[in-house]
Amino acid sequence: MKILVINAGSSSCKYQLLEMDTQSLLGSGLVERIGARMGCLTHRTYKGGKEEKVVREHPFPTHVESMEEVIALLTDPEAGVIKNKNEIAAIGHRVVHGGEAITAPVLVTQPVKDIIRECFLFSPLHNPANLTGIEVAEKLFPGVPNVAVFDTEFGMGIPEEAYMYALPYHLYEELKIRRYGFHGTSHKYVAGRTAEYLGKALKDLCSVTMHLGNGSSMTCVKNGRCFDTSMGLTPLEGLVMGTRCGSIDPAIVPFVMEKKGLSASEVDALMNKQSGLLGLCGHTDMRDVHAQIEAGDKRAALAFKMLVRSVKKILGSYLALLGGKTDAVVFTAGIGENDSITRAAVCEGMEAFGIKLDKAENNTRKPGARTISTPDSNIPVLIIPTNEELQIAMAAKALIGK
Ligand code: AMP
Repeated sequence: MKILVINAGSSSCKYQLLEMDTQSLLGSGLVERIGARMGCLTHRTYKGGKEEKVVREHPFPTHVESMEEVIALLTDPEAGVIKNKNEIAAIGHRVVHGGEAITAPVLVTQPVKDIIRECFLFSPLHNPANLTGIEVAEKLFPGVPNVAVFDTEFGMGIPEEAYMYALPYHLYEELKIRRYGFHGTSHKYVAGRTAEYLGKALKDLCSVTMHLGNGSSMTCVKNGRCFDTSMGLTPLEGLVMGTRCGSIDPAIVPFVMEKKGLSASEVDALMNKQSGLLGLCGHTDMRDVHAQIEAGDKRAALAFKMLVRSVKKILGSYLALLGGKTDAVVFTAGIGENDSITRAAVCEGMEAFGIKLDKAENNTRKPGARTISTPDSNIPVLIIPTNEELQIAMAAKALIGK
């Protein structure tokens, strides 16, 4: 069974074609700068263990032309990986916000699209693009089921005392202001893989997952379910991120609006796109931050310390929530999987909490899931590579199987 996974952004579209019988990747790629004067499609195929890469640079006026070209590449008689698009059994879509109504992956129907549209309010950058991806797929793959998998799904399981904000209750009733949590597809996948790695049933797993990438979030997993999560109504809350400020005193918002004469959307953009590592030191990529620290840049050093501190504070609070029964603390995503410096800084001084990092193992680069703590660490520290696309494809497969 072959499943296509689409992650549509406002001017970009990522995709993967997976063979589900072997859980292997047949093709993947990214179309960038859709709608701009010049766009770029980078396409990869994986045939017989050999990776082939194609780069096409020309304008892609809309997502429709982009996806048409992707289909042409996937079905190319010589370089393609499938004979024709009818081989695709289902299409899985990443959708950022499903609001309170959606708590599981769903087959796309008109009411589902209406809910995705209603959630434009909470996710104005992502949900419209995600809906475009679905509509393009409906047009180009008539009759093929579309499955929507929501970033908010895993976080919907958290208890009321974790999802409510201490604001007047009517704001929750009227506007559905609550914690939803994001990166749920990644957190769910990593929880599943962690249980597998530890040889435990998922329902018995108690762990903390640190998804540290350009966007970063953490979840506290109790008995296999999300028990708390760091992102909130939107993906802005929680950790210091590449361009997002994470948690700040909410009173800063009206203060800055008043003093700088900014509108609500301007201050929102300031917190989402001009803050975090970028706002502090001018760099968003952790590799650049490390290079700047090496070069003696004090702001870069400050930004790094602030990011690490934000992770440690949430890690400590989740260990407290788990009440001493933690099966693993897990690093994942771009920084979590690749950056030994960040991992070491987060684990530093955590011995009293049962976390002892094996420095040599941490500094070794190896693919796949592995343990980076010492054998006498009470809580194993793991690296579990995330794979949101595979999680989406598995959800699509399970749904169409029904
Ligand atoms: P993601 O959002 O999960 O794709 O993560 C992207 C981020 O991971 C980049 O912006 C970098 O900050 C970080 N990253 C990726 N590779 C490395 C690496 N080798 N060392 C440090 N940071 C890395």
